[in-house]
Amino acid sequence: MDAIWWIRRDLRLKDNPALSAALSAAERVMPVFILDPLLFDSHRTGELRRSFLLGGIKKLAHDLESRGNRLYVFRGRPLDLLKWLVATTQAAMIYAEEDVSPYAVRRDAEIGAQLPLKLVGLPYVRHPAAVLKSDGSPYTVFTPYSRSWKAIPLPETLPIPEKIPPAPEAPGNLLSGLSVDLASVNFIPGEAEALRRLAHFTQGAAAPIYRYHEQRNFLHLDGTSKLSPYFHFGMLSARQAARAALAALNEAEDDSSRKGVETWLNELIWREFYGQILYHFPNVRKESFRPDLRRIEWRNDESDFEAWREGRTGVPVVDAAMRQLAKIGWMHNRARMVVASYLTKDLLIDWRWGEGWFLQKLLDADVASNNGGWQWTAGTGTDAAPYFRIFNPVSQGLKFDPMGDYVRRWVKELRDVPLDYIHRPWEMPLDLQKKAGCIIGKNYPAPRVDHNFARERVLSAFRMAKS
Ligand code: FAD
Repeated sequence: MDAIWWIRRDLRLKDNPALSAALSAAERVMPVFILDPLLFDSHRTGELRRSFLLGGIKKLAHDLESRGNRLYVFRGRPLDLLKWLVATTQAAMIYAEEDVSPYAVRRDAEIGAQLPLKLVGLPYVRHPAAVLKSDGSPYTVFTPYSRSWKAIPLPETLPIPEKIPPAPEAPGNLLSGLSVDLASVNFIPGEAEALRRLAHFTQGAAAPIYRYHEQRNFLHLDGTSKLSPYFHFGMLSARQAARAALAALNEAEDDSSRKGVETWLNELIWREFYGQILYHFPNVRKESFRPDLRRIEWRNDESDFEAWREGRTGVPVVDAAMRQLAKIGWMHNRARMVVASYLTKDLLIDWRWGEGWFLQKLLDADVASNNGGWQWTAGTGTDAAPYFRIFNPVSQGLKFDPMGDYVRRWVKELRDVPLDYIHRPWEMPLDLQKKAGCIIGKNYPAPRVDHNFARERVLSAFRMAKS
């Protein structure tokens, strides 16, 4: 029997349940990646993200070739292409990994109704239906969810198959014609790089995981794993990461090191938490989780939104973060919270606008985690920060970029601004502005809004919505 392995967000050979299931059921396997225009057109997927993905596809193709197989790449509507492929190859089954985004769920249900499709595994350690409250309902608060999550033993990871016998050929493979420009992509795509990063982050006495709890919030430090793009495209499985964290926990030499590992494991569980929220409450993709906050009167000023997108708000830490996103397609978690708070609270712009921009620009853009992060920051989500807790972007900058290194790195106009003013350059006396070559309103914008005024404005908008 022949089978199709339909690759979606599992661009890897190691610990791949869908591939393993296909190999144990079929004699020959045809790996297929479909570039679905609904997901990969330029409106939804920015240039860097597309290059990262295509780079990952090329790497996987290479890894498959070294095991005697060949990757097929097609472009089009998955249902049409798979119908044609099944008819052409006579494959008896299509194996794929389950996904939780509403689009993927709809697509797979439609395909499963017409073709032999078996969903095996998913991009999380736990299936969303496997961690439930005692009454069978889903968790909407993180801490009890994480407790239940941790109470279940971790599954073993699956090895890389030695050989993957190829299925019969099909015409129209786009693989050799895929051109990938990785020059401006800061993250090397592929499984090998993902495993290298995981090992660097978790292995050895000096591994960064042991200092994660102390360093992860500082914007200028490289204190986090930067594995999110690899998780998103499944170049690394969540199980591998969780197992690596447990191994690091066993090796930890003191309480502080243990705390670092536990903090990182908790972040992996936040990812799982948001995955299960999207699975059980797909409406969060369209509206606030909290019904009482569905009627906020957003200002939605287009020019404010444009300034935010382009990193021209006049608030250094916000601009640095937005320029980091534009340049490398990744942003520090603390910076994501700061820019999301600034957009929703200071500029009073609908969190869905920011969510959409992140989905387009982030290499790790993930419907579940992104929605969770936006709703958390806006105060509209499940386990959200209370809506009246509003980040002050200047205090955030002073606390998490104390020497202004992050701002200076990404906002060149502010490079020579003295430390005392790096997070509030508008307070700089004119002679210092001239000396630093940064005249506010000329070389660098004045802030678009006064934070204290904006704070009162948003509080009143949220209060109105609730009443
Ligand atoms: P580490 O700090 O090394 O953490 C390890 C892994 O844990 C991450 O790779 C990620 O998979 C997971 N993780 C960490 N923090 C979170 C979190 N708060 N929520 C969910 N998972 C987490 N993450 C995405 O993967 N995709 C997104 O589209 C995304 N959008 C976000 C939007 C907003 C507004 C906010 C506030 C957060 C968002 N996050 C998103 C979560 C988080 O910012 C990133 O996962 C993290 O910055 C990735 O960097 P890292 O790999 O170095 O993380």
